Amino acid sequence: MLVMMQAHATEEEIRAVCRKIEELGYRAHPIPGATRTAIGITGNAGPVDSSALEALAGVAECIAVSKPYKLVGREVKEEDTAVDLGDGVCIGGVELAIIAGPCAIESREQAFAIAAAVRAAGARLFRGGAYKPRTSPYSFQGLGEKGLEILAAVRAKFGLKIVTEAIDNESLEQVEQYADVIQIGARNMQNFSLLKRAGRSSKPVLLKRGLSATLDEFLMAAEYILAEGNYNVILCERGVRTFADHTRNTLDLSVIPAVKRLSHLPILVDPSHGTGRREKVLPLSRAAIAVGADGLLVEVHHQPDQALSDGYQSILPAHFEQLMDEVRQIAAVLHRSVPAPEARTPAVKTR
Ligand code: PEP
Ligand code: MN
Repeated sequence: MLVMMQAHATEEEIRAVCRKIEELGYRAHPIPGATRTAIGITGNAGPVDSSALEALAGVAECIAVSKPYKLVGREVKEEDTAVDLGDGVCIGGVELAIIAGPCAIESREQAFAIAAAVRAAGARLFRGGAYKPRTSPYSFQGLGEKGLEILAAVRAKFGLKIVTEAIDNESLEQVEQYADVIQIGARNMQNFSLLKRAGRSSKPVLLKRGLSATLDEFLMAAEYILAEGNYNVILCERGVRTFADHTRNTLDLSVIPAVKRLSHLPILVDPSHGTGRREKVLPLSRAAIAVGADGLLVEVHHQPDQALSDGYQSILPAHFEQLMDEVRQIAAVLHRSVPAPEARTPAVKTR
């Protein structure tokens, strides 16, 4: 059930409707829109009797939600959600969000070298795992809190916003103290206790699509986070498992317009895990932007041959610079933008 407020409804009227919903034993989710506020109702086992709500001041109408998800759908909010990270960095706005960095944080030197390069190319967000979900228990599992400290140092030095993964409720406690955006990985897309915990965090959440998740399963996973009161969710397509073996996963770019039709949430594309092959990252980045993604999540490493994880799909800083340049031009066709590269310090002339 959705309570649609009138366009001129006051804050007090909206609060009164929320109070009434809570009195009835449900949870109220006021979601402001461009012209009016919609209040989503969750926590009801069956249909909600709307008569008590329709009578309240400022209420335009109560409508039944036709989709299984209530808060991520366009029914509750017609216009796109933009997640504001402060300092002019936004995910889902006109400017595309390009998140770049290594798969895993390996050392301060490694993180700083890559951060300097991606920042120079125009990236405003830096990625890097401190907690790594690895297929093998014998593979590098990440530096843990030390990795988070390095990420905090990257933010302080380069002014980049930090995106890093929480793999369980314990690591989320730590990650939310350091990160600007908490990543929930593909393998955890249906870890419902982790989703609920992320829903109680004050930090935005980047939710990656599960390895074999349908669109409905993906959106329902996001719904778990919003249902707990965290409306700052960013979706990320990262490829699904298919029979194809020319790539690590099959990047499902058709999911972008499908998500855009059903949901107001921003969606990014990860061409690195999506293909698993360095040489495919650039072409699929171009395509992702052309198809309407709100940005990219790209693995970049200055020494990919020595990377402790995902080196074969990490691109070099020079390739990332080219990627930014090409994506910038494609974005312009769609009336979107990509931050400009930093001005290079002019070479000092010596006599
Ligand atoms: C990652 O972003 O490093 C990662 C592990 O991604 P995914 O969860 O999509 O495999
Ligand atoms: Mn990786």
